[in-house]
Amino acid sequence: MTSGTPQLSLYNTLTRKKEPFVPIDAANVRMYACGPTVYDFAHIGNGRMAIVFDLLFRLLRQVYGPDHVTYVRNITDVDDKINARAARDFPGLDLNEAIRKVTEKTAAQYQSDVTALGCLEPTIQPRATDNIEQMQTLITALIKRSHAYEANGEVLFEVGSMPDYGKLSGRNPEDNLAGARVAVDAHKKNPADFVLWKQSSAEEPGWDSPWGRGRPGWHIECSAMSERYLGQLFDIHGGGLDLIFPHHENEIAQSRCAHGTHAMANVWMHNGFLQVEGEKMSKSLGNFFTIAQLLETTDFGGRKWPGEVLRLAMLMTHYRQPIDFTVAQLQLSEAKLKQWYEAVFEHSPMPTSWWEHLNGTGAYLPPSQELIAALSDDLNSHLALSFLDRTARPSSASEAAQLASDLHFLGFDMESFWETCRLAMGEITDKGEIDGLVAARGEALANKDFATADRIRAELAEQGIALMDSKDPETGERRTKWEIKR
Ligand code: AMP
Ligand code: ZN
Repeated sequence: MTSGTPQLSLYNTLTRKKEPFVPIDAANVRMYACGPTVYDFAHIGNGRMAIVFDLLFRLLRQVYGPDHVTYVRNITDVDDKINARAARDFPGLDLNEAIRKVTEKTAAQYQSDVTALGCLEPTIQPRATDNIEQMQTLITALIKRSHAYEANGEVLFEVGSMPDYGKLSGRNPEDNLAGARVAVDAHKKNPADFVLWKQSSAEEPGWDSPWGRGRPGWHIECSAMSERYLGQLFDIHGGGLDLIFPHHENEIAQSRCAHGTHAMANVWMHNGFLQVEGEKMSKSLGNFFTIAQLLETTDFGGRKWPGEVLRLAMLMTHYRQPIDFTVAQLQLSEAKLKQWYEAVFEHSPMPTSWWEHLNGTGAYLPPSQELIAALSDDLNSHLALSFLDRTARPSSASEAAQLASDLHFLGFDMESFWETCRLAMGEITDKGEIDGLVAARGEALANKDFATADRIRAELAEQGIALMDSKDPETGERRTKWEIKR
């Protein structure tokens, strides 16, 4: 930690308190977040989870140094919904291969979606199907230590073998399950025992194992991947609120019992849920939106939304609170971004690139201390944004450069935003159209039709597009470049 850096404190679901964060090893701060199950395109709720843990990743990199943080976000690519889709979309193909085909596409889409939301790439993004061997090793250890047993073609974790099972969620699984599905679960010692490995039929994807050809349960995947990349005990484990029980509770049970450790991760962090226009997001209510849909279609509020607007809308609410995702909130977030960007551009007007004002080197400045202090208080993004509001009237190019750097640190990249925003608002239609108009003007000039050429130039200027003519030094031909001005 650099001197003068405020103490970072994080709310820990395990202790139900905000606590000072002390890494196990400041030279390698380790965090794991449960990523998406890639059976389909990611929805905007998944986007919130990606943004929340990206913000934490950025903060940790700032505090401990970019090379001293390892962020693992997994991809769950074995799941019954994926199997169903693979069988539907690739009938006749070997199922293991078919699920690869489904998930390669959805995983790539996820990556491009969250990049558009301003998320840095995690250090490692392991896939469950690349870690089957590690899962089997863990299951073997659990059987050996009498925490797991085989029954009815399954390997099950025995919750009764762990005295403090349920500590994270504070739930008593027996109360929850009393009377439920007892007949179905007759092979279990306790109805709350959960699956580590299950047999696969010939039509289902599977891997050979000491317990027959089968596939892993969901929880064991994260225990195996976190151990492989972060070790048996690491700093932070996160995901959405829905994962506290049973997923994270069961991850803890597996990892601790397999390794005989007192903890799996020191801090457990959970983001609140996202609902849309006041209602739980669901396909049947017609308020279910994928990230790609918001970016690329006009399905929500009749227009496309730049990724940065979506990101800011999320950051306006503290990560532990529920978010109501509304068109009005996106409009507000866009107005705020425009105000900030205008403030920066004011002091570094194009065509001089604004980043040339940054120390004269083009490099961003370190983020403001106030910004880091706000985020260090359990990621208080609301406070961080109100600090930006206060600095949004820079009186010099260097203050503008600081504002630009703070925005960059938070994941807002004004170069792309400015263009996307204007495209989205219909102020400019698209690049192809501009290129077409520029070419038409060139033709008019060549034909000495100056009236047309002037009209096109004026039309573009009205849309905020400036043209710059120059001559090719060798051929003497006219070259026209265009750029978007404020
Ligand atoms: P899933 O693909 O459903 O396993 O979810 C991937 C991640 O997104 C998990 O960390 C979930 O907790 C999180 N998540 C899913 N739905 C929402 C939602 N509506 N709001 C916020 N986070 C969510
Ligand atoms: Zn997980």
